[in-house]
Parts: sequence; structure tokens; C-alpha cells
Amino acid sequence: MKYVRSNLDEDSEIGGSSSGIAGSGAGAIGTAGEAFQNVPTVTVPRPRASRLQRLRNYFRQRNYLEKFLFIAVCVLTILVLLLAAFLYRVTCPAPQHSFEVQYRKEVVPGPPAKGENLSMVCLDPECISLSARILSYMNEAANPCEDFYEFACGSFRKRVAIPPGTQRVTSFSLQAEANEILLRSILESPAPPAAHASPSLRSAFSAELYANAGRLYASCMNVSAREASGVEPVTNMIAPLGPWAAHRPAGGPAFNASAWNLTKGIAEVVQFLLAHTESLPFFTVDVEPDNSNSSRHVLCFGQARTILGVRENYVGNGSATNLAALSEALLSVAQLFNFNLTQSNVTDLIDLEKQIAQISLPESERRDSTKIITSTVRYLMDNVGCVNWLDFLARYASNVSYHITPDTPVNIRDENYLRQLCPLLQRLAADPQKKLTVNNYLLIRSVWIFLSVLNKEAAAIPRKLHHITDGVHGSPNPWALCVRSVSGMFGFGLGKLYVDQHFDDESKLAVNSMINDVKAAFNRSLQEAAWMDATTRRLAMAKLVGIRNLVGYPDYFGNETAMREEFGSFRFASGEYFNNLLKIQRLGHVKSIAKLAEPVKVEFEMTPQSINAYYSPSSNVIAFPAGILQRPFYQAQFPPYISYGAIGAVIGHEVTHGFDDDGKNFDRNGNQRQWWSNRTAQSFKEAAACIAKQYEDFVVDGDVRVPGQLVLGESIADNGGLKSAYRAYKDRANLLPEPLLPNLNERFTKEQLLFIAYSQTWCELETKESVRQSAKVDPHPPGKMRVWGPISNNHDFGGVFKCPAGARMNPVKKCTVW
Ligand SMILES: [Zn+2]
Repeated sequence: MKYVRSNLDEDSEIGGSSSGIAGSGAGAIGTAGEAFQNVPTVTVPRPRASRLQRLRNYFRQRNYLEKFLFIAVCVLTILVLLLAAFLYRVTCPAPQHSFEVQYRKEVVPGPPAKGENLSMVCLDPECISLSARILSYMNEAANPCEDFYEFACGSFRKRVAIPPGTQRVTSFSLQAEANEILLRSILESPAPPAAHASPSLRSAFSAELYANAGRLYASCMNVSAREASGVEPVTNMIAPLGPWAAHRPAGGPAFNASAWNLTKGIAEVVQFLLAHTESLPFFTVDVEPDNSNSSRHVLCFGQARTILGVRENYVGNGSATNLAALSEALLSVAQLFNFNLTQSNVTDLIDLEKQIAQISLPESERRDSTKIITSTVRYLMDNVGCVNWLDFLARYASNVSYHITPDTPVNIRDENYLRQLCPLLQRLAADPQKKLTVNNYLLIRSVWIFLSVLNKEAAAIPRKLHHITDGVHGSPNPWALCVRSVSGMFGFGLGKLYVDQHFDDESKLAVNSMINDVKAAFNRSLQEAAWMDATTRRLAMAKLVGIRNLVGYPDYFGNETAMREEFGSFRFASGEYFNNLLKIQRLGHVKSIAKLAEPVKVEFEMTPQSINAYYSPSSNVIAFPAGILQRPFYQAQFPPYISYGAIGAVIGHEVTHGFDDDGKNFDRNGNQRQWWSNRTAQSFKEAAACIAKQYEDFVVDGDVRVPGQLVLGESIADNGGLKSAYRAYKDRANLLPEPLLPNLNERFTKEQLLFIAYSQTWCELETKESVRQSAKVDPHPPGKMRVWGPISNNHDFGGVFKCPAGARMNPVKKCTVW
């Protein structure tokens, strides 16, 4: 309780909601119960009949004035009571926790089950379909104590098929598909549907935004215009960049290897690509909150990605197939753009990418934010001196009022990579043949990022490559690709329209209340961690209190002026898809650089329609977009034991990220510093190593093992998330009505259903190639491990499912960080 109240002081609006929900909820149940019990007493006839008789006699004995006054007093009293009731409704909010107002109640025949405080079955269509979905995913024949993933998701994996153009189907992706249909209807409707938006969100600008997003979508769907343009928009763009050895536009200069300055050429191409993508060759630069002073933005430099994404695709087992597919893709690009590249040139290009991959850091090492260096531009001049940084950065920031000098602060990621970059570039510059290869590589990278938005032939090249690396078959519908394009490029604009139509502010209040419950449960884990010293624990509790919540959508959605500022400069044309995208990219680029001169603002980094959530260590924020606040994660009608298992565990996951092996390096203000005592930091390391080792022992898809260190942060978050959600539910269980789900509560207890609801958020079916690919680079463990790990480490699970000690899902030795 103390914790919740102290949070109330931090954020009175959210805290107020929490207090209001608990207070009005308990009051509502109590009042309803008393009224029900009083009915028989009130309607017992005898005592009431004799009192009535006495009243009638008394009334007959009064004169007319007394009778008039008596009636007037009665009428006035009734009026006053009616007025008071009306004012109460206006000034006191209705119960905010949607759980309390949404159920159709039906009394279960027979005596209530032992321990039930409210026996009713929820027959709302949401509850019926929820029951059906839960049962349809399960394999009840499986032993929950030996393989809970099979028990919760066994039938899911048999009933679903991987959709065309994707590598997996999951609970998340099914919801994303459903969302795409909603987004499509927004983008294809000739006029805005009737306003559903809450009064705070209604905006005259929405109609303008609606028409504009529709034009962007229409331009994507305009296949004939895209086919007619072919690849010309890109060849026009790259013409002034050269000279190119493999491509000489009419009137352009010829390539001369000895005259061509390799590092200057790289800097020019990076500068060009920066305005359109984050996928850059050789090195990256972007604007981010300063690692050691989270209130300001700085330039951040790091290692670049190769075409296949990460070093793991170029070194080690299994890379040959991917590299052969890459070779074929590069030849197709050369043919499409009429570049003068031979098979031997392409082999050299792949060899160059291999050399870049060899000096690149593996993804498991890149997770470590303590390796980010806070320095100045001078660091780059001293350690990556082959690039003219002052010239590069002056051009980079030429459109904004931010003057860059050698003393301008920067963050350096991937230091070991950047230190090896110049020696590699110098070796390449010393050999004319290798210089030619670098020139060809820059040409390919300049066009590669645009392929998917050009004509069909161009878009097919990266798709075919993706098919081989990730085992994808077929292609999504064109409308789905265009919905994804608008959602990806103009995400917050489309998000505003999505929120207007499909998000209910009541969910926001209910979820804020759950967040407070889950934080309170996590606070108990901090108190119970015997390995923490008192000072570190106190600071950790302060950090927990300091976590801010973003729920649903950005605040500016309710502000007409801010909306116009954000989206007013976009004017899309329905026949110019490529130009529309360039407009978005270039405006976004200038806006991103302009942040250098602005303090950091806490804002949503994920669009409202995303089926996802995040924790940001630099701002100490947890964020839950509107997209994830719907089934299967949350619905107002869902009973608490389902909501806490699904969205509750997602909330717990994000909260725990603040204290995982990376989040723990940031203090409550988002600054990276060592605020842990050495002894406690060492104890944390040992507890985390237990989880890393445990996950390394899990095998998925026959023989795939996942590096424990790569998935450590997500695994700690999953474990802490489930534990906190379960505890938050148990703390709340007696305060909320808990309707039963048809056909489910006869089979399972509410606690069992919470674990099932949690596990079913991780049901998935993936291609074999994708399982292998993810195991190398994805910091998120596969679904099976996201169930096995947290379930087998949970101290309540064994009792809830009556699993014997030593069963696979109830091992005697459990790993616990939080
Ligand atoms: Zn996570």
C-alpha cells in the first residue's frame, strides 16, 4: 500500500485513477450486495402493513394546510434527492476499472464453490470467444508438468499455417493481421467513419489527416504508375553521386581508380543514404539521448550493417547458402539497373562484406551498453582519422542551427569495430582492384534500400533473398504490403486515425491501474532479494517509483495545434508513391538532426497500432501502445486471472527490463552510471548466469540452442514479468469480481488459467530457417523458451498444477533474479 501511495504523489492523475478504481470498485460490490440482501426484509408484509395503517389515521386527522405542507415537504424532499443523485453522477466518475461494469451476470445454479466471492459466468461474446480460443490452442493430452508449452500451445501449432511472405505465425502476428484489416478499412474508406474518438481526441484536423493517409495508400496501390516509373527515380537520384565504375550516366565523369578518394566517396554515399535510411555502409550515425546525460541529445556512432544484416550470416556454419543467395540477388540488381557488374565483381563484393563482418561485433556483445563511450568528435578524429569528420558533420547538420566542433559531445558504440575500420579502409585503398570493389559496393548500397518501393521486378529481389535466408514462401497481398508501408512510413499519422476508431480511453485507465499493481508486486521482489545491500535496494526502489507509464497514444493527439505541427507539412499525391516516401524520409531526417539542439522529451517511440510494448532505459519509461491493449492481451470483459496472465505479464516484462542485465546500468533518471555496490552487482551477475546457463540447455526445433547471453535481458524480463503478474493478481483477486469463463472454469482453476493465458501469448510456429536465423541474432528467445523458462522458475506454478518436485516444469533448482 505504501508503495502505491508514494507513486500517487509521483503522478497524481494515474495514481488518482488507481485509488478511484479500488475505492469505487469495492464500494460498488458492497452496495450491490447489501441491496440484494435487504430486498426480502423490506418486502416482508406484516410490520409494514400496521405502520401504514397508523400513518393513514394520522394523516386523516390533519387540516388542509398541514396536509398541503406535508405533501409539499415530501415533493421537495424527492426533488432534492433526485438533484443530489444527478450531481453525484456528474461529479463522481463512474467505476473506472472496466472489469466491474462490463459483465452480463448469470448466477450459477447450486451452492457457490468454496472460496468464490462472486459466482457468475460471463456470457459476453468476448468471454465466449476467449474460452473457445484458449481451448483451441491447448493440447490437454500433454502433461503440463513436463511440457507446459505443448500443453498450452500444442493445438495452436497444428491449427495455424505460416501466412505467405512471413517466416512465423504467433499470437502477436495473428493480432497484427487483424489490425491490418482495421487499418485497411480506414485507408480505403471514401469518407471518415462516424467519429468514435473520445471527446478529448476529436479534432477537425482528423478529416484532413484521413484524406492525406488515404492518398499515400492509394499511391502505393497504384501499380500502373509504379510500373511506368520503373527504376528511373533511383537512377536519377544516384547520378550526381558518382563517379561510378559500373554505371556512367550520360555526360557523367568516368571512374578513375587512382583519382577516386575512397573515404570521401564513402562519406558522400553515407551522407546521401542518411536522408533515407538507417541502413548505412561502413559506419552509422544518428541522434540519441546521451548515455551519461539523458536530458540532452548527442550524435551516436557505431558499426554498420551489411546487406544480410549481421556478421553471423557471413561467418560460421550455414553461411554458404545465404551468401550464394546474396550473390544471385546482386547480379539481379546489376541486370535490372543495367550496371556493368560481372560474376567476378559480385564475388569481390561478397568478399568485401565478409571482411566487414569479420571486424564487426557479435550481437550478444553489442547489447552491453556499459561499453558505450561518452566522448567528443575529437575521439573520432584521433581514432577513426581516415574520415574527415568535421567536413562530414558540417554537411550532416547543415539544415539545423547546431554548430559542430571537435569538442561537440558524442557517444561511441562498438568501439572495437570503429578502431579497426580505418586499417581496413586503408588496405582497400592501397589496391586499385579493391578500390573498384568499394566503388561498386557503394553503388549497390545506394540503390538497395529503394528496391522494395519500386516496380514489381525490383521488389522481388530482396523478397526472394529473404525467402531463402528465412524460409519464407509466397508474398503477402498487395493491400497488406501497402498497409504496412503506410503504417511504417507514416505511422503516427495513421495511428491517430486508428486510435480515433478503435481505442477506448476506459482501457487506458484500467491498464494504468494494472501497471500500478504490477509495480507494487515487483517492489516486493526488490524487498525480498536478500542478495541486495540496503543502499542499492533503496535506489532500486526509487528507480521503480520513477518509471513513467505511456499508455495508448501520444498526448499531442488531443491537441489540434500540435497535430498540425506534426503532420501539417505532409501533402501526399495519389500517383506519386516514390516521391511521397522521399518527402517523409527527408522531413524525418531533418527533424531527427534538429533534436541535437533540443532537450530530450519523453514521447512514444512506437506507433499506437503496434502490437508491442517497450522499456526505454534512457528515459526510464514503459510504453504500451493502443495496439497491444486489445485481445488476446486485454479486453475490458476478460476476467482478471486472464488479463493479469496476458497483459499483466507484458507489463511485468517491461518493468523488469529496468532491472535486467542492461537496464540495471541506468539510474532512475536514465543516466548510465554504476549505482550498484560491487558486492550486489556481483550477486546479480551470479543470479543472471544461472538463467543464461539454464536457457542454453533448452533445445528448440530438434537441435537449435540459443546463446544464453544474447537472450539474457529478455529472459530476465520474462521471468520477472510472470512472477510480478501472478503476485499482482493474487493481491487483487479478492477486490475484483471474477466471473467464470464458459467451459473453462470446470476444467481449470483461476490460477491455472493465469499460467495458461501467459503461455498462450508465446504460441508460435516458425520456419526452420527462421528458427536458426533468430537463434543467432534475436535477443528474444523462441516462444517455447519464453514458456519453459519463466514457468519452471516460478515458485507458485508447481503448487497450482500439483506438479511433483523434480518434474521438468517444477525443477528443485530454480533460477531467480527478481
Ligand atoms: Zn523485452
